[in-house]
Amino acid sequence: MLRLAIQKSGRLSEDSLKLIRECGISFITSSLKLKTESTNFPLEILYLRDDDIPGYVADGVADIGIVGENVLVEEGMQALAVEQLGFSKCRLSLAVPKSDEYQDITDLQGKNIATSYPNLLQAYLNERGVQAHIHTISGSVEIAPSIGLADAICDIVSSGSTLISNGLKEVERVFQSQAVLIANGGLNAEKQAILDKLLFRIHAVQRAQKAKYILLNAPTDKVDIITDLLPGIKSPTILPLAEEGWSSLHSVVNEDDFWEIIEKLKEAGAQGILVVPIEKMIV
Ligand code: ATP
Ligand code: MG
Repeated sequence: MLRLAIQKSGRLSEDSLKLIRECGISFITSSLKLKTESTNFPLEILYLRDDDIPGYVADGVADIGIVGENVLVEEGMQALAVEQLGFSKCRLSLAVPKSDEYQDITDLQGKNIATSYPNLLQAYLNERGVQAHIHTISGSVEIAPSIGLADAICDIVSSGSTLISNGLKEVERVFQSQAVLIANGGLNAEKQAILDKLLFRIHAVQRAQKAKYILLNAPTDKVDIITDLLPGIKSPTILPLAEEGWSSLHSVVNEDDFWEIIEKLKEAGAQGILVVPIEKMIV
C-alpha cells in the first residue's frame, strides 16, 4: 500500500482530494480521522499540516505527498518533486504600504521585511545584491507594516485583495507556485508500481482538463475546410446527417485555442456547435 500525505485543512485540501477522486480512487473522509484507506486502490491517505509534508515524505513516513512548491522550495526539498499538478496557483510577492514611493528592489536596502518564507526571500534579495532585515513570522504577515513590525512584507498572493484590504501594494514577484506531487526517492518496486499507476491516471485527468470535445454540423462540401481547422487527436470523426448534404463532425480541441477556432469554424459554415468537457483522456 502506498501512503499519500495531503493537507488536512487549508487551500490545498479540497483540490488534492478532488484529484484523487477524479483518478477513480474512492475513500471515506471524516474530519476527525487523520488517516484513511482507499476502498478500491492500494492507497492510504494521511492528513497533515502542509509544512510537515515534505519532511514526512523525505523520511519515508509517507511515500508521496501533495504540497505547494513554495513550501517545498522554502524547506530546500525540491529534489522530491515528481510532477506539477496545476492547481493552488499563487505567487510569493513583496508588498509595501500603498502610500510608499517605490522605484525598484534597491528601495528595500536596509529595511525590515516580515515573511513566513525567509529562505525564498533571502535568495531573491541575494541575487539582486540587496541586504535587508528579514523577520520570520508564521502568520498574519499582512498586518506587520501597520503595527510597526516591518517596512515591507513578503507573502503569498493570488488575487491581491488581501493586500489591498491591508493598505499594501504588490511591488515584486519573488516566486511562482502551484501544487506538486512529491515522492520519497527510495520507493521499493511494489510501491513504485502503484505510483506509476497513479501517475498514469493523473495524466489522463490532466490531459482531459485542457481538452474539450467539440461536435458540429456542416455542409458536406465544407467538411474539408473544417477538418483542416480541427486539430483533434488523429482526425475528426465525420458522420452523415439525416438531412441530405450535411455532415456532423466530432473532434477534440485545446481549451487555450478553442475560441479562436470557433470563430473560424463559424466563418467556414459550421452550425450547431457544441463544446463539452472531457472527463478522462488516454492517448
Ligand atoms: P496548514 O495549517 O496546513 O499549515 P497553511 O495555513 O500553512 O496551512 P494554506 O493557507 O492552507 O496554508 O495554504 C497552503 C498552500 O496553498 C500554500 O503553501 C500555497 O502553496 C497555496 N496557497 C496559499 N494561498 C493561496 C491562494 N490564495 N490561492 C491559491 N493557492 C494558495
Ligand atoms: Mg502551513
